[in-house]
Amino acid sequence: MEILNKDLVIIGAGPGGYELASNASKAGLNVALIEKEDLGGTCLNHGCIPTKTYFHYAKLVDATKKAFNQDLKIDFNHLFNHKNEVIKTLNDGVKASLKQVLVLNGEGKLVKENGEVLVKVNDTLIKAKSIVIATGSIEAKLDIKGSEYLIDARTLLDMDHLPSSISIIGGGVIGMEMASILNALGVNVNVIEYAPSILPRMDNDITRRLHNLFKQKGINIFTKSLLKEIKKDSGGLTCLFEKDGESFNINSEVVLCSIGRIPNVYNLGLEEVGIEYNKKGIITNEFLQTNISNIYAIGDVRGGIMLAHKASYDAKVVLGHILGTAEKVNYDLIPSCCFTIPEVSTIGLSEEEATKLENYRIIKELYRANGKAQAIGEVDGLVKIIISDDYIVGATIIGEEANLMIHEIAILMNAKIKVSEAKNYIHAHPTLSEIIQKCLNGQNL
Ligand code: FAD
Repeated sequence: MEILNKDLVIIGAGPGGYELASNASKAGLNVALIEKEDLGGTCLNHGCIPTKTYFHYAKLVDATKKAFNQDLKIDFNHLFNHKNEVIKTLNDGVKASLKQVLVLNGEGKLVKENGEVLVKVNDTLIKAKSIVIATGSIEAKLDIKGSEYLIDARTLLDMDHLPSSISIIGGGVIGMEMASILNALGVNVNVIEYAPSILPRMDNDITRRLHNLFKQKGINIFTKSLLKEIKKDSGGLTCLFEKDGESFNINSEVVLCSIGRIPNVYNLGLEEVGIEYNKKGIITNEFLQTNISNIYAIGDVRGGIMLAHKASYDAKVVLGHILGTAEKVNYDLIPSCCFTIPEVSTIGLSEEEATKLENYRIIKELYRANGKAQAIGEVDGLVKIIISDDYIVGATIIGEEANLMIHEIAILMNAKIKVSEAKNYIHAHPTLSEIIQKCLNGQNL
C-alpha cells in the first residue's frame, strides 16, 4: 500500500473541506483532499446552489404574476439544464482553486497503525500532521409504513420534470424553500408539519406572516400534524396524517421528506480510532479539535447550525489553529437566510432569547411605508430589531431583499456600532435599506 506524508489531510470536499484545502495550500501547507462524490459537496451539487438557481426563476414568475397578473411560462427543461450548467461552472472554479492540492477520489476512513491515526483511501494511506473530518450531513429518514415512497431534496432537485403536485413532510427551511419554489412554478403544494408553526425555530411574528402569505399563494399547510403512513395507488401517493386527534389524507404525485439533516459520522472509523461523537455530531472544543488533538471536525458533521457559510467559517478557525493564529469559534453572529417568497433572514438573538436579558427593546418597521417597496409592489415585509444598551443584539427581516439587508445589521453588530450612531448613517433614496434606517430612527436613543 502506498504511504503519503502530508501536512494536512481533509475528508470531504464541501464548503468546509474544499475551502480549507484551498486556503491551507495557499498558506504553504502540503494538502490532500479526499472526496467520494463531486467537489463542492451538498451545497454546490445538491443544496444551496441548485435551490437558489430555481429560486431566482421562481421569483421571476411570482413577480410577473404580481406586477402584470400574468403567468410567465417557464420551460422547465431549460431551467433544469441551466441549473446543471451553473453547478458545472462552479465545480470548475472549485477545481481551479485546488491546483496545489492532491485531490483523491474515494471514501476516506480513519485507521490506526502502530498507535498513530492515518487516513486510508482506496490503496493509499496518508500520514498527516493534521486531519480534518468535513463529511457533512445526510437527510434524516422517517420510519413509517410506506416510507419507501418518500424522496429527498437531492432526488427532487435531480428530477428533469416538475411533478404536478407534491406533499412536503417537514416545514423547516429546506421544506419551505421547496414549497415556495414549486408553488411559484405551478406545482400544487401541501406541507405537513408536526410543530405548531412552519419554520419552528424562527420568530413567531415572522412565521405567522409567512404562513398567511403562503396560504394566499395557495400552499396548503397542515401544522400540528403527524404523518402516519404513505399509500400508493393508481392516483399517486396518499399521505395519511393526524391533526388534533382527527385523521386526514392528501394525495400527490410525489412526497418529499425534509424533516432535517443528521451529521454524517458513518463508515469513518470513528469508533476504531476512538473519536468521541454522539447523535448530535462529532464533539469538538472551541478550536474544533476532537478528543484527539491533531484531528479536527468542521461543518455539518459537528451538528448544530447546518449552513454552508458556517462550514467555511469553521475551516478558517481550523486553519488559524494549525498556523498558530487561532481564535476561538464564535457562532453568535452567523446570519441565516431562508430563500422563500418572501425571503426571511435572521441574525443574533430571537425575541424569545432576548427576554432573558435584563433590558431589551424591540423596534419594528413595515415595508409598506417605504417608497421603493411601494414602487416595486413588495409591501408585505417587516424589519424587527432587538436592542439592548444601545446595541443591536438580534434582528429578523421578512420581505424583498431580506437576505441582502440582514448584512447591514450584521456589519453593525460585528463592528459593535451603537444604535445612536448608526441611526445617523445616510441611506440612499429610494432603497429598501431605508427601512432599517427608519426603524433605527424610530428610537429616541
Ligand atoms: P457537505 O457540503 O455536505 O460536504 C461533505 C462532503 O463530504 C460531501 O461531498 C460528501 O460526498 C463527502 N464525504 C462524506 N463522507 C466521505 C468519506 N468518507 N470520504 C470522502 N468523502 C466523503 N446552506 C446555506 O448556507 N445556504 C443555503 O441556501 C442552503 N441551502 C440548502 C438546500 C438544501 C436542499 C440542502 C440539502 C442544504 C442546504 N444548505 C444551505 C446546507 C449546506 O448545504 C450545508 O450546510 C453545507 O453543504 C455543509 O458543508 P460541509 O462542508 O459541512 O458538508
